Amino acid sequence: MLDVQNIRQDFPILNRTVNGKPLIYFDNAATSQTPQQVIDVIVDYYSNYNANIHRGVHSLSQEATDAYEQSRLKIQNHFNAKHSHEIIYTSGTTHGINLVANGFSSLLKKGDEVIVSALEHHSNIVPWQMLCERTGASLKVIPMNDHGELILSEYEALLNDNTKLVFVNHISNALGTINPIEKIIEKAHAVGAAVLVDGAQSCPHIKPDVQALDVDFYVCSAHKMCGPTGVGMLYGKEAWLNKLPPYQGGGEMIAEVSFEKTTYAGLPHKFEAGTPNICGGIAFGAALDYMNSISFDAIANYENALLDYGTSELLKIEGLKIYGTAKEKTSVISFNVGNIHPYDIGTILDKMGIAVRTGHHCAQPIMDFYKIPGTVRASFMFYNTKEEIDTFITALKKAVMMLS
Ligand SMILES: *Cc1c(COP(=O)(O)O)cnc(C)c1O
Repeated sequence: MLDVQNIRQDFPILNRTVNGKPLIYFDNAATSQTPQQVIDVIVDYYSNYNANIHRGVHSLSQEATDAYEQSRLKIQNHFNAKHSHEIIYTSGTTHGINLVANGFSSLLKKGDEVIVSALEHHSNIVPWQMLCERTGASLKVIPMNDHGELILSEYEALLNDNTKLVFVNHISNALGTINPIEKIIEKAHAVGAAVLVDGAQSCPHIKPDVQALDVDFYVCSAHKMCGPTGVGMLYGKEAWLNKLPPYQGGGEMIAEVSFEKTTYAGLPHKFEAGTPNICGGIAFGAALDYMNSISFDAIANYENALLDYGTSELLKIEGLKIYGTAKEKTSVISFNVGNIHPYDIGTILDKMGIAVRTGHHCAQPIMDFYKIPGTVRASFMFYNTKEEIDTFITALKKAVMMLS
């Protein structure tokens, strides 16, 4: 069981007011809030051992290096990667995807095929379009149904010997759909294609096991799972990471440099050019510790209850339509009420202290599918409560009255 009142004490931001009202933060799918335990780690780093890593012989540099590498081991352990050098620090999901997409430029040729899903975030569409433009490979799209679920039979029909890569998110940020990535991975591997899974929305809610999934690449951002912005991780199977060329050149990623020839460092440093977000990497580990101390099972159970409650309360509002009604989904509810523009609802809710997302959620193809400009999106995390949902529903009814 999850003791939500106790947990809320860990999040100082939840005590503030917005426009004179207690903050109700329902924009967790854009970024999550940060517990004091993680804030303390950030303050401790800059107060006590801020130094560049992997270079200095002095004590501060050793301490910073140890903490940063310790955090890599925590990430390895959390995702059950076989080797710690299969964990590459990135600046976030977008960086991880671009690193892999760029690397595949040298491995693809004309006639090859790349598959993405209709449910993707822009950061999982655009890099592949750019990759296809560079290489002459073609991009195929797995279609979705009205519930916001991928149509697996259509996916199977797209797969063939030319398929080299499949990219799919584990959970859709716009609709909350949990995609059947086990099946998607298995079918891709049957034709020899590699799979990259965008875990930006799944990692805050579930604990993926990259070896059990047998996934080739998995990416996420710390800021959606109680960590700081500007840091994330790319997991890649060792064999794949060895095949990909470095993404950026610079310090830290080299073995030897001369003007005639440079040799690259081994994994993971080959992909970690320049001074990284040292404090962010350390705080990422602290965020994983924090979430694991609550337990992902308890988090999932609690959030599912919030999702069920929020969904049934919202559906009582006349004219309200929920987009994304997949059987398997997380605590994200995208909706519109009648013809009211989502932006207007979001603006009025903000006046009442309630933070929701409005717009296309970086997923314009999904909005085009439903022929809407955007939605209002409320996304819950384990520190939200049923009482907050009640206040939100009351505020939403007021907003609808004012706007219709
Ligand atoms: C947030 C998000 C991204 C982008 O993450 P960044 O931290 O902005 O790089 C990519 N994919 C999905 C599904 C997301 O939710």
